[in-house]
Amino acid sequence: MTADVIDGKQFALQIRERVASHVSELIDSKGITPGLAVILVGDDPASEVYVRSKGKQTVEAGMNSFEYHLSETTTQGELLALIGQLNSDTAVHGILVQLPLPKGIDESAVTNAIAPEKDVDGFHISNAGMLSTGQKAMVPCTPLGCLMMLRARYGDLSGLNAVVIGRSNIVGKPMAQLLLRESCTVTVAHSHTTNLQQLLSDADIVVAAVGRPLFVSGDWLKPGATVIDVGINRIENAEGGTRLVGDVDFDSAKSKAGAITPVPGGVGPMTIACLLANTVTACYRAHSLPEPLELSI
Ligand code: NDP
Repeated sequence: MTADVIDGKQFALQIRERVASHVSELIDSKGITPGLAVILVGDDPASEVYVRSKGKQTVEAGMNSFEYHLSETTTQGELLALIGQLNSDTAVHGILVQLPLPKGIDESAVTNAIAPEKDVDGFHISNAGMLSTGQKAMVPCTPLGCLMMLRARYGDLSGLNAVVIGRSNIVGKPMAQLLLRESCTVTVAHSHTTNLQQLLSDADIVVAAVGRPLFVSGDWLKPGATVIDVGINRIENAEGGTRLVGDVDFDSAKSKAGAITPVPGGVGPMTIACLLANTVTACYRAHSLPEPLELSI
């Protein structure tokens, strides 16, 4: 068997097109332009790349992008003051603080200072709680993107066995909650799990969010499984340079799985597309307008 390779780039493009069409409808019919504020603290080069890319795609979708680049020496108080100001700015529908933050700033305090309805990353404690209790929430972008790809493949996910490897607050836990919400039978594996291979041998869906290069071998998979590889790891290549790989050994998994996301070009592009989708959703909700169902859950 050779797995279908799920094209995350193409998928993300479709979402961005839908976002752009809702944005132009909001502008034309209501005179409302959705706005996303992104705050970067410090000079981490990888974070700078992400923030630039988010700003560019926000503008390409027709939305307003408000970017704040604060110095490494910014205090927690100064950051919280800026968030407070953006919380009450009606032109801003989504607020994202790029993580990680410099040492000395408490990430939870910052995340929880964002108004939950503008928390387009979905990390606020209220959104985590609402997701886990089945209420309407802002859903973290990466798991939302994974779910959209799974829904496109299966339609109805109910009754499928899903194993999520990883239990972080930003990927593993919300992913498990979303799959549970879709009526999958969900197992969450982590670094203390002793029977991972056995669990995977019966998994129709595998979501790998571990942060260990090529960790999941194709031999461990159930034939025909759908594999969503969230991991982004840089390893050395044969020429002495580096290359990006996922948490799944793509080459061995391709001959056992039914479908698999590649790295790069799988989950990664979906994350920013879902950030834009969440911003539009937040804008519809802020104005008490019926939100586009295909952009949220
Ligand atoms: P974390 O480091 O926060 O979590 C990793 C998880 O993997 C932990 O729950 C850990 O378990 C678990 N784990 C570690 N070793 C094992 C093992 N041997 N067996 C089973 N589980 C194990 O990572 P994140 O969730 O933030 O990210 C995971 C990966 O996804 C990273 O590569 C990251 O770069 C990538 N990522 C990609 C995104 C995208 O847009 N594509 C977005 C976000 C992340 P324990 O809790 O016990 O320590």
